[in-house]
Amino acid sequence: MVLDVLKMGNPLLREKCKEVDIDTISSDNSQSFIEDLIDTMRAENGAGIAAPQVGRLQRIFVMECDNNPRYPRKSSFPLNVVINPIINPLGDALVDSWEGCLSIPGLRGMLPRAAKVELAGYDRYGQPFTKVIEDFEAVVAQHELDHLNGVLFLDRMDDMSYLTFQEEYVKYWLNV
Ligand SMILES: [Zn+2]
Repeated sequence: MVLDVLKMGNPLLREKCKEVDIDTISSDNSQSFIEDLIDTMRAENGAGIAAPQVGRLQRIFVMECDNNPRYPRKSSFPLNVVINPIINPLGDALVDSWEGCLSIPGLRGMLPRAAKVELAGYDRYGQPFTKVIEDFEAVVAQHELDHLNGVLFLDRMDDMSYLTFQEEYVKYWLNV
């Protein structure tokens, strides 16, 4: 089921989300919520979505990129359901990341992100995992983790001259 996505200004997007009790992850309630998050991400052409974006203040996000029309130049990565995530940057390399957000429709902004990270957490079956990810996949994971702490990409921009509307992003920046 596709859920409504909360937009910036909704105070729930600024809350710190609670850890999930992993013992409850196999419940129908949790599993159907995870399905709804995936449905919503795909319906909105998001590369990721976090639970608070649909009003549930739990540390869960999902991410996937498969020929995404909102991110035409980005490499694909598989569906990943991440519960109680921890991210550690690997090395000092940063990337200039142009980001959008389903909760901030119509805007793009550029900000620095770690180029390569270790992502640890639990999958949708409650199994712990750790994986090394980089490039767009690493950027998306960092963006989604921020949502679980009430942080939006605008907060991380150090130069607001790189805040653009979608149309201007395509016109002036997509091919730079
Ligand atoms: Zn977002």
